[in-house]
Amino acid sequence: MASAFGHAAVAMGMGAGLYQRKDKYKLWFWGIFSSIMPDFDVIAFRFGIAYESMLGHRGFTHSILFAIIWSVLLASVFFRKNIKSFRTAWFYLFLCTVSHGLLDAMTTGGMGVGFLIPFDESRYFFPWRKIRVSPMSISRFFSSWGIRVLKSEFIYLFIPSILLGTILFLRTTFRSDQKSTSVE
Ligand SMILES: [Zn+2]
Repeated sequence: MASAFGHAAVAMGMGAGLYQRKDKYKLWFWGIFSSIMPDFDVIAFRFGIAYESMLGHRGFTHSILFAIIWSVLLASVFFRKNIKSFRTAWFYLFLCTVSHGLLDAMTTGGMGVGFLIPFDESRYFFPWRKIRVSPMSISRFFSSWGIRVLKSEFIYLFIPSILLGTILFLRTTFRSDQKSTSVE
């Protein structure tokens, strides 16, 4: 895993353009939650489920199918005001959930990510793996290992997220300025 902070930073970066929505806080909350929640599968270890199993760590909850099901579910329950609101919320929540596995596939450790589970059990890594893998236990995170993780995430996740967030924020602002000018 990348750390929860790294996943959340990416979710925030991707959601910056949604700041004009009335339900933005609710959407950001679920976006951040969705970017972190695939790692709840570490509970599998407690039940003796092997890492390489479909239900093991980086298995089904890190798959593309899971991201689709989870984001449709969330958007249907919390963001069904109208079809446009639903569509944007769904797409954002999908990106947040699927981004988790994509980032994990760029980390330096653990097993690969089961993107295609349940259709294909293979685990995948990207050829580009620069993000230091984060320890699974919280106590280990507060050590020199955690600092090394945050350092690599600062370069490869936080800075790009801030840049992306700024671009999306400006794009939304510019577009709404254009709209209000054309109405005048
Ligand atoms: Zn993960």
